[in-house]
Amino acid sequence: MKKSLVMIMAFIMAMLLCGCRCDHVWENATCTAPKTCKECGATEGEPSGHKWQDADCTTPKTCTICKKTEGEALGHSWKDATCTTPQLCEVCDATGDEALGHTWEDADCTHPKTCTVCKETEGKALGHSWEDATCQSPKKCKACDLTEGEKGDHSYVSFVCEHCGDEDTEGMKTSPLHSFVKGRYETEYFQNGDYAYRIVSVDFLEDNGYGEMGGTSVTYTLDPLDSINPGIEGNPDKVINGKNYYWSGGGAAYQPWDYYLTETEIVITHETTGAVVGRFTLNSDGSLYCTYGNDYRIVTGYTYTRKVY
Ligand SMILES: [Zn+2]
Ligand SMILES: [Zn+2]
Ligand SMILES: [Zn+2]
Ligand SMILES: [Zn+2]
Ligand SMILES: [Zn+2]
Ligand SMILES: [Zn+2]
Repeated sequence: MKKSLVMIMAFIMAMLLCGCRCDHVWENATCTAPKTCKECGATEGEPSGHKWQDADCTTPKTCTICKKTEGEALGHSWKDATCTTPQLCEVCDATGDEALGHTWEDADCTHPKTCTVCKETEGKALGHSWEDATCQSPKKCKACDLTEGEKGDHSYVSFVCEHCGDEDTEGMKTSPLHSFVKGRYETEYFQNGDYAYRIVSVDFLEDNGYGEMGGTSVTYTLDPLDSINPGIEGNPDKVINGKNYYWSGGGAAYQPWDYYLTETEIVITHETTGAVVGRFTLNSDGSLYCTYGNDYRIVTGYTYTRKVY
């Protein structure tokens, strides 16, 4: 009985071991499954395992065989765009945003046109625009206010500093015009339209450059006007260029005029209005030539030839 039980057990074991005796139809191992029989599901060996390729900027870690991924792409490692280069991945050389372009700052006295970002320059600095020193300021650049050196001297125009109003009293005293001014100048005859006149005198009274001017006029009437001036008869008082001039009137008159000197002129002004009445220049012989006059006693183009005192 025991013997037959052992026999039965051995038979069952043999049956189990040899199974169905199938001819296996193998399928290759995959990343995750071992070599496996399609028919009976028997396996052999181990799964081959994934063949991982590292993640890069745009692709996650990926199996080259089964394309399974793990994790995420790394993303680009951007290097910022500059004035002249676009945004650039330091790993894969991909480009992103465009180059920024330069941010130019205009040239000034000492700097050329310059990019505030990358310091690239174009052209040259403009250089300073110097203005001369004055009594108020040293030599100064108009553009950047840089100064150099010391304040300058007064700049006198007609003995008055054009910057501060200082009066050049020394200059007044030494002006050749000034030394000739004081005194009485007599005039000669002149003709003005239908009338002829003579200015007896013009007085430049003070030697401080500012004085009072007096004038006395004597009027002569032109010959052709005799018919309407029946009182005039006899020999002419004066003959000029073949024309007869007759005494017609005259007198002395105080003129409310001032005068002042410029570098080249004696300028007569109305005492109260300040209006310019006449302008004289000094001739080398000491006479005064009138370049402008708006009063009948001061006639443009006429010379005061004789200095009386
Ligand atoms: Zn099988
Ligand atoms: Zn795989
Ligand atoms: Zn990249
Ligand atoms: Zn730049
Ligand atoms: Zn400057
Ligand atoms: Zn000054």
